[in-house]
Amino acid sequence: MRSRYTAFALGDIDYLLATHHIDYRSDAHTSLQQTIQTTQWLNLLVIDTQKGQRKDKTGTVEFVAAYRSKAPAKLSITLGNQKASATDSENSPLNDIGQLHEKSQFVREGPQWFYTQGDLLPPYQPKRTQPCWCGSRLKFKQCHGK
Ligand SMILES: [Zn+2]
Repeated sequence: MRSRYTAFALGDIDYLLATHHIDYRSDAHTSLQQTIQTTQWLNLLVIDTQKGQRKDKTGTVEFVAAYRSKAPAKLSITLGNQKASATDSENSPLNDIGQLHEKSQFVREGPQWFYTQGDLLPPYQPKRTQPCWCGSRLKFKQCHGK
């Protein structure tokens, strides 16, 4: 799972496809390419894992990945805002960072683990004094938990 995150960050589509179970790929190349071109991955926080040991055939990983959208459309919308309507929080660079909170499922075939599918979860909220999910190294209450 960490190696897939690294592959996302590096844009290694071949690796992502090779580790995505063939029964679960659908138009994967095009959508992967779009994701990689429009997203900058900033941080990975693994929250929970279940099974996924050498004796298991399945495993799940719950994680939060922080990202910044590189889509120029969003930038022009932001820049187009009237100054009067923009609040301080809208001007904050923190506001550009989104989170992907997902529970991913993997199956093992021989020695190789394959990603099958993932369930999107509601935004992850750490405890107030825990590190923020975005990778800023600040406490949540000092960062996105403000
Ligand atoms: Zn944060």
